Amino acid sequence: MLAGGRLLHFPSDGLSFAQLAAALTDGGCANAAWQRAYGCGYNAPNAMNSSTRHTLRAGLKVAAEHPSLILWYLQNRLRNGVLPLERRLADGRSLPPRYITLKPTLRCNLRCEFCRFVANGDVFGKKDWLEIGDWKRIVDEIAPYGPYICLTGGEPTLYPQIAELVAHIRRHRLLCVLTTNGTLLEQRAEALMQAPPDVLILSLDGPREVHDAVRKAEGTYDRALRGARKVAALRKGSAPHLVVNAAITGHTWETALQLVDAAREFGAFALNFQHFWFLTQPMVTAHNARWGDCFPLNYESIGGTATEGIDTDRLYETIQRLKQEDFGLPILFYPELDREQMRLYYGAPEAFTHHATPTCAWTATDILPNGDVSPCFDLVCGNVRDQPFRDIWNSDSFRAHRNRLASAGPYPVCARCCAYFRRD
Ligand code: SF4
Ligand code: SF4
Repeated sequence: MLAGGRLLHFPSDGLSFAQLAAALTDGGCANAAWQRAYGCGYNAPNAMNSSTRHTLRAGLKVAAEHPSLILWYLQNRLRNGVLPLERRLADGRSLPPRYITLKPTLRCNLRCEFCRFVANGDVFGKKDWLEIGDWKRIVDEIAPYGPYICLTGGEPTLYPQIAELVAHIRRHRLLCVLTTNGTLLEQRAEALMQAPPDVLILSLDGPREVHDAVRKAEGTYDRALRGARKVAALRKGSAPHLVVNAAITGHTWETALQLVDAAREFGAFALNFQHFWFLTQPMVTAHNARWGDCFPLNYESIGGTATEGIDTDRLYETIQRLKQEDFGLPILFYPELDREQMRLYYGAPEAFTHHATPTCAWTATDILPNGDVSPCFDLVCGNVRDQPFRDIWNSDSFRAHRNRLASAGPYPVCARCCAYFRRD
């Protein structure tokens, strides 16, 4: 952990599987949806480059294997279309969610240098509050809404009944994504492959020595590799699609090109680069000055950045190369940034690179290991042990959260939050 333990990382809460669907439904350019949603001046490539071609091919493959994904994606587009009306007329009420992140545990067997849950101590927790029966009941309750379910943590494979939970989600025919650091995959593979998730997102920071240094434990790269190989050996159909997810930080950006080899070594279906999500002290101060009376945030437990040292122009050139050359697999970037936006993203963190009201409060929420329903940082709108989910979804505190965003626009802390950029 660097900088006094205040570094922040949100373990990927769902690289958008639908980015591949977007590639299909947006005429082969995954970025077109982004551009249209924001009208932000992102310059889509004129000619289809290699990465786009691979993304299109992958999108077609995914569409053929998972027609329900396309339906889900189109429903999202429809839902996004009515969101402005919901914001204006519904007084904070919302139609059912489209994405729900379940966090069966915040415990973790690693202590990555950039992790928020290491900084605030959650990874050291001893207890998972909800039993498997509770999680199954929650899944039963939310299944009629047809959300895309993302399982994260902490490290979700530490939850003893993770395979049973995934199987239950699949039984409801919900799209299911499991994010993991891969260290326990070898042990869990057999159970998980009985009813595998649709997508397995494996977090990888670089080639072996970079990954192990960031993860602060030697051998993590090799353990994850063994896990990925066992999953591949046990795979009967197409699931799970293995997506390697790489957070761009001050320690990893220079080895971005080598990550392609690493992703291929893992047998990845696709590689996603995530620009790092972070919060600075000025963001939190500005947030508290505006919203501290009803939704205070504590920089010590959620703030920090690990982006120091990134040369944005060189990073931009690397990304252009990754987009132009044929590396043999789809390579995605989230969020998509042009050169100026990238300079802003890393050089002026409090500035917004895009201007929009976040959709997250109307479409998504997390459910934490103790049953708390939390749509944003430490904001808790209720607990599924005490109330039905549907009551929490339109509870007074959830509506107040939506009304704050609808009336005043994004919070200052939205500027570098992953959820802010989500528009699929
Ligand atoms: S693997 Fe564990 S310590 Fe590392 S980022 Fe994920 S939750 Fe945090
Ligand atoms: S985008 Fe903004 S409102 Fe949504 S989770 Fe992030 S900080 Fe909260």
